[in-house]
Amino acid sequence: MVEKPSSYRGRLAPSPTGLLHLGHARTFWVAAERARRTGGKLLLRNDDLDAVRFRLDFVAAMIEDLRWLGFQWEEPVISQNNRRHLYRAALEKLHAAGLIFPCTRSRRDVEEAAAAPHEGGENDEPVYPPHFRPAPGDVLPPLGDVITVNWRFRVPDGETIRFTDGCAGPQSAVAGRDFGDFLVWRKDDVPSYQLACAVDDALMGITEVVRGDDLIRSTFRQLLLLRVLGHPAPGYFHCPLLHDHTGQRLAKRHDALSLRSLREQGRRPADIFAEFATDFAAHLPA
Ligand code: GLU
Repeated sequence: MVEKPSSYRGRLAPSPTGLLHLGHARTFWVAAERARRTGGKLLLRNDDLDAVRFRLDFVAAMIEDLRWLGFQWEEPVISQNNRRHLYRAALEKLHAAGLIFPCTRSRRDVEEAAAAPHEGGENDEPVYPPHFRPAPGDVLPPLGDVITVNWRFRVPDGETIRFTDGCAGPQSAVAGRDFGDFLVWRKDDVPSYQLACAVDDALMGITEVVRGDDLIRSTFRQLLLLRVLGHPAPGYFHCPLLHDHTGQRLAKRHDALSLRSLREQGRRPADIFAEFATDFAAHLPA
């Protein structure tokens, strides 16, 4: 019998803002295993839109570390910086549909006026105060060729967004209460993570997004964007993040646990993976 080729398409999406560490290896291993065990494909996306923190040497290090671990992906590597026209096209669609608005408030204004403190996280922001929105009936200004103002997506207040996570189970959040109007384009003319990620996951044909559970809250925003842009939603599988002995989330500052250091200490990928396999045994297809 000829086996039907799998339609599973997953991705690894590191940001080249530092050296990869053990926590990345763990999430990426889960992503690679879920693709491998279903006979699917794995793509590598270089999330290099953050021009301030992005460094070319980290891209090279990232690829070297991923190869050391033995991951394989479909070539070529996809770099977000080469795909700005795709994000811009999505932005224009949102603009034409009147779903976004320009915002001149600073992050500090928003933080000070927000009703509730937010959990934080790099891609998270406090709930945007509704009285900062433009008045109904205000004419939407054009985007302009070069964007010099923040643009935000207006969330459907009161709507509950739900999805069932492959690892974390059923998730829900109420728009306007648990998260508010969020950035889609920054005033330094850079697309936001939320927009770029939603557009890419759709256009890359990703069927399941595997990533750290710090991004669960971003998923609600991305689901809204996918819906209004007319794309089907992928599945999601958010892995619990690794913590250090003090309970802090592993971050790029944990040099001792960078894959570089582990390699120099003589650790072998097979031994590293053996631990991950125990942690995720229940979540991996046989
Ligand atoms: N590049 C993002 C990060 O490293 C992850 C994006 C994603 O998996 O959606 O935090």
